Amino acid sequence: MNDYDLILVGAGHAHLGVLRRWAMLERPPGRIALVSADHHAWYSGMLPGLLAGRFSAEDCSVELQPMCRAAKVDLIIDEVISISAEQRQVQLRDGRQLNAKWLSLNVGGQVSPLPQQGDAMHCLAVKPFAQFLTHWQTWQQAPKPLAIIGGGAAGVELALALAEKVPQLSLFCAGKLLAGHNPGLHLRAIGALRQRRVRLREYSPVSRIEGDQLFSEDDLVWRGERVLLATGAQALPWLGQSGLRCDARGFVQIMPTLQSDSHRQIFAAGDCASLPGALKSGVYSVRQAPVLANNLMAALKDQPLKNYRPQKHSLALLATGDGGALLAWRGLSASGQIYGRWKDYLDQSFIRRHRFVG
Ligand SMILES: Cc1cc2nc3c(=O)[nH]c(=O)nc-3n(C[C@H](O)[C@H](O)[C@H](O)COP(=O)(O)OP(=O)(O)OC[C@H]3O[C@@H](n4cnc5c(N)ncnc54)[C@H](O)[C@@H]3O)c2cc1C
Repeated sequence: MNDYDLILVGAGHAHLGVLRRWAMLERPPGRIALVSADHHAWYSGMLPGLLAGRFSAEDCSVELQPMCRAAKVDLIIDEVISISAEQRQVQLRDGRQLNAKWLSLNVGGQVSPLPQQGDAMHCLAVKPFAQFLTHWQTWQQAPKPLAIIGGGAAGVELALALAEKVPQLSLFCAGKLLAGHNPGLHLRAIGALRQRRVRLREYSPVSRIEGDQLFSEDDLVWRGERVLLATGAQALPWLGQSGLRCDARGFVQIMPTLQSDSHRQIFAAGDCASLPGALKSGVYSVRQAPVLANNLMAALKDQPLKNYRPQKHSLALLATGDGGALLAWRGLSASGQIYGRWKDYLDQSFIRRHRFVG
């Protein structure tokens, strides 16, 4: 009953693409299950629009049951708390243990908490999205000044989406804002934040919380009651304890076939995987889906696998909270409502493609 040919762990972007292909084309032979902590898969690209009041929760998520039914895949709603790479066993929070010949991991990452003394400061991590949204709605019954920690694309989009929803907003960035993006996007983001009166602190790594105070090394940098954590993806701790070879940050090292480089019967994709050239962003996870779908099918049929090659450049579209967006492509940058409409079109097409009825 708990034995499967293949278990997909996590309903990340890559697994959604895999299920879609299997539902529409051909599914591999054997018993297959998807384990997901949530009944829905959330599309992070639309989360800032949801917070800005431009979308509903339904607009930004895909219901998993109809998709699994169409792909003839069992859906198991539970949290995975550990896996054994050697035995390919998956341990669920409710005590069940699942066994599989093949495993595929697409569980994303988590946001690490900050060291904290006292409980005067309430911290909310942006992931998992369902918990984040519930807490955020409670907070917004009585809006208060807010600090956002994280100066990547997520932190900037959240700051722009929330600036007018709270009395005062500060954005803390450990280094340069939007490091890794082109200088034009950096300047445009600073301009957009300034326009919305967001207080930006670059090169201010927040290291601890004491009572109602945020500290960057020994400097007191902010006082208040509410902090939003939007720092980059950290590896889920159980990946490092699974027996899989992981990189220095705890993400599963994979080969271009998307197989673990220590356990060939385990695949990993998206943010939880580590492959040179593949960045931790939804765009890369989405692009891995066709290769993953093909390779899982080939693995189950004992056929040769294909290689995934990460794209060298990716388009960045950052929502500005008012329907517009900032754009970066290689060395170019731009901003305006037209880019926002383009982003909406791309995001909504993703949701439409993965929405099954029944
Ligand atoms: C506010 C915000 C905005 C963003 N905007 C963009 C954007 O516009 N474009 C972009 O490319 N990237 C964006 N990102 C980054 C993007 O969210 C991630 O890079 C992307 O979601 C990673 O996709 P993934 O396929 O690895 O997994 P995820 O989409 O993170 O999905 C992981 C899945 O695994 C499940 N899961 C996790 N742990 C367990 C467990 N223990 N047991 C069972 N299931 C589990 C989760 O429920 C989830 O379904 C944004 C991030 C944030 C926070």
